[in-house]
Amino acid sequence: MPGIMILHPGREKSLLRKHPWIFSKGVMEIKEPPENGGDITVRDSAGNFLATASYSPESQIRGRVWSFDPDEKIDAAFFERRIRKAWESRQALIERTAVSAVRVIDAESDFLPGLIIDRYNNILVVKILSAGTEYHLQHIKSALEKIFPDDVIYERSDEAVRKKEGLSERKGMLRGELPPQPITISENAGMKILVDVVNGHKTGFYLDQRDNRAALEKHCRGRDVLNCFSYTGGFSLYALRGRAKSVVNVDVSGPALAIAKENVVLNHLDPGRCRFVRADVFEYLRKSRDEKKKFDVIVLDPPKFAESQSQLPKACRGYKDINMLAASLLNPGGILMTYSCSGHMTPDLFQKVVADALLDAGREGQIIEYLTQAGDHPVALPFPEGLYLKGLVVKVS
Ligand code: SAH
Repeated sequence: MPGIMILHPGREKSLLRKHPWIFSKGVMEIKEPPENGGDITVRDSAGNFLATASYSPESQIRGRVWSFDPDEKIDAAFFERRIRKAWESRQALIERTAVSAVRVIDAESDFLPGLIIDRYNNILVVKILSAGTEYHLQHIKSALEKIFPDDVIYERSDEAVRKKEGLSERKGMLRGELPPQPITISENAGMKILVDVVNGHKTGFYLDQRDNRAALEKHCRGRDVLNCFSYTGGFSLYALRGRAKSVVNVDVSGPALAIAKENVVLNHLDPGRCRFVRADVFEYLRKSRDEKKKFDVIVLDPPKFAESQSQLPKACRGYKDINMLAASLLNPGGILMTYSCSGHMTPDLFQKVVADALLDAGREGQIIEYLTQAGDHPVALPFPEGLYLKGLVVKVS
């Protein structure tokens, strides 16, 4: 029998709206606590059933809901149902765009809190981020073996957030053997991209920017493009395919830039129009301003500046700084494509920060496109926290 979690009066409201998190402050009592990550029945203060959740005794998020159905058991069949449903919902995207790499499970947004699964060709890369998914790892693995009988399964649970759940970092094979890295995936009408699932960032690649990389292409013909925080050059490939005159990639990671170079060649694009600069973007932008360099198109796709609400003010200063510098480097009529992937930064606030940045740069701007994460990174309506990627395409005069 699972343990029982009883909530303070009134604390059931968010669960009745199908939000999947139970914060420690809302918990009145735990009866027969299960081990870390085990299943627990959640009840309101009057004893009514609310949900079956996973129990995270070490985390502020004390419970994460698996199911709102009192009769649903959390077993291999449960994970098979949820994963199959999510996988089916990706088929239209796969057929439409012939991508060979997709996010199969996006955690809370696919009703499986703490679980990320990306699929690169026939390699499943799994991230186990919560005590609950750790507890059910064998069930998740057997569900995957059924749904993807020919796939290799590799675990990349090497994320610091696991500490909050009382878990240590880990990576390794769950099934089969990996081919030599990097492997080649394709997206958006045949663009080939090298991905290293062992040493690359996250699960190897930023699939969430797929549509936005393609959205850059139309702005680049005959133009000088600067791709800041380029990683393996994703945006640059589209700039080159869109016949950019020149493309500069800037990133701190040497290995990422090395792959970026290979990606250009792999797609038969012209490496002669490309530069790869290993530098801190803040310093590079400041130096370029001092040297009075100019560009026609600038992409800013920084890492998450705010990991928590308390880091938000500092993050805003960082976003403002790079956007101000980028705006000052743009020729009149230039395009600033700017992103924030910090979930704590709301779309409104991000737009305000960018507006302030242009004001400080003494430039005028108009938003001509609003961008967000690709459709295989959905946002479940009860879980607005699932929206994290915001992009603005700003025409700067
Ligand atoms: N645009 C990329 C993803 C960018 S991820 C794509 O579409 O695939 C963010 C990148 O920023 C990472 O490659 C990381 O190495 C780099 N980075 C982080 N901090 C940096 C800094 N201060 N200066 C330069 N690069 C940085």
